[in-house]
Amino acid sequence: MSNLILILPEHLSRTVSSLRSANPKEDFVIFIECSKDWSTANNHKKKIIYSLASMRQFAADLVKEGFKVEYLKIEDKKNSGILELELELAVKKTGCEKVVITKPGDYKTAKRLRELSQRLSVEIKLLEDDRFLCDEKSFNFYAKDKNNLRMEFFYRNMRKKFGILMESGKPVGGKWNLDAENRKFPRGGIESIPRVQHAQDQITKGVIRLVKKSFAKNFGDAEDFNFAVTRTEAVAVLEHFIQNCLPSFGEYQDAMLAGENEMFHSQIGLYLNNGLLAPLECIQMAEKSFYAGLAPLNSVEGFIRQILGWREFIRGVYWIKMPDYAEANFFECDRPLPQFFWDGNTNMNCLKQCISETKRHAYAHHIQRLMVLGNFLLLSGVSPAEVNNWFLGVYADAHEWVELPNVTGMALFADGGYLASKPYAAGGAYINKMSDYCKSCAYNVKEKVGEDACPFNYLYWDFISRNRKKISANQRMSMIFRTYDKMPADRKKQIASDSRRFLDKIA
Ligand code: SF4
Repeated sequence: MSNLILILPEHLSRTVSSLRSANPKEDFVIFIECSKDWSTANNHKKKIIYSLASMRQFAADLVKEGFKVEYLKIEDKKNSGILELELELAVKKTGCEKVVITKPGDYKTAKRLRELSQRLSVEIKLLEDDRFLCDEKSFNFYAKDKNNLRMEFFYRNMRKKFGILMESGKPVGGKWNLDAENRKFPRGGIESIPRVQHAQDQITKGVIRLVKKSFAKNFGDAEDFNFAVTRTEAVAVLEHFIQNCLPSFGEYQDAMLAGENEMFHSQIGLYLNNGLLAPLECIQMAEKSFYAGLAPLNSVEGFIRQILGWREFIRGVYWIKMPDYAEANFFECDRPLPQFFWDGNTNMNCLKQCISETKRHAYAHHIQRLMVLGNFLLLSGVSPAEVNNWFLGVYADAHEWVELPNVTGMALFADGGYLASKPYAAGGAYINKMSDYCKSCAYNVKEKVGEDACPFNYLYWDFISRNRKKISANQRMSMIFRTYDKMPADRKKQIASDSRRFLDKIA
């Protein structure tokens, strides 16, 4: 009996459940590049190049292994670009008795495949994606009966379960979380570490040409594409990070320097999220580096927490809360996304830097995303749907399961506190403390109100004031409201009018 195995763009791993026990002699493997899916958001050119090139490379490897591979390229005239249609045709063409697919990472594709299975003449078997370290059943059990979830306790359970950085049942070093040591700013700048350069073969070069031509109007630069597109290349990136960047990663992980897009960050999220790397291998490689005395505990623990804790936690939240999570809008925001999120044309230097780097690299690190871009969009009251659409399209590592909880839950507090204990709102002082952006800004970060004042400063208090009814009962916000209440009436009036003026201007 032969199976038709559908490989989705996020399943590029030889050990993914659909491929693990496949038989190259009998089974067929199909890849479908879906133009319809790429047109739902203004996707970054580098994101499209990365996805198509890594899919084509992976398919070529399967061919070398002896698999019978049907590959429908986006530019093929016979490819309608519609997943259901092409899969149905392939079933007829191959005569397979069963379609095998590892469960998609996003809700909509899973729903579409379930609906298709009602219509198809053959069974569609959706297998669990067991590359994640916490399966859905275990997460549901953990989350049961909880009104809100916090990552910290989930993370501790995961450390215990996998015995990572553990000694006699206790965390190595005595603390679970060393974030307090990870908030330094490199006053004297940093010495940039050159990254691994990948040679491009004909497959990747062909995709770059295709995207430059067919997606010319999309956001972002296609030039200097240097993402890994094969497992070998992705492993090289991981090893380079562990050896060269991990030792300094921890203490400077929240810092932002103009023109320093990479700092000491790993930039492996995109490889984890499409299968080129596996979570446990990254965790174990970092842990080994600590035990070998090559990287300090604060760096290693911080890195491991992102993968073993946050990444797994976020994925669990996504599946529990979908589909309603995509509609969450706690603050009832309806402002459109400012145009400068597409062109970086703003006098606010922090936003300009983060947007320009995003445009160039399809990457920004977590503090740039959360405390500059997300913070601004939260304070400005931009519609969560528009914000999610932007974040999903512009970052190469963004897939809905990881992007939506990070944006809706963490950045925008649009779920009303299911994920975060309070809104991640901050004035200009935080950005000034953690970056060098304010030094070259047209606005003055020390000024609280007025034409020259940093817009974050008055927008912050305006956000607090206009959302009072929704958040004042939150214990963690009480001091902030006490501070606001002590402000003179004319200061409050100016905060409101400066905010109105600014928001009208960017509308
Ligand atoms: Fe951003 Fe305000 Fe600093 Fe300018 S002054 S870079 S707007 S935080």
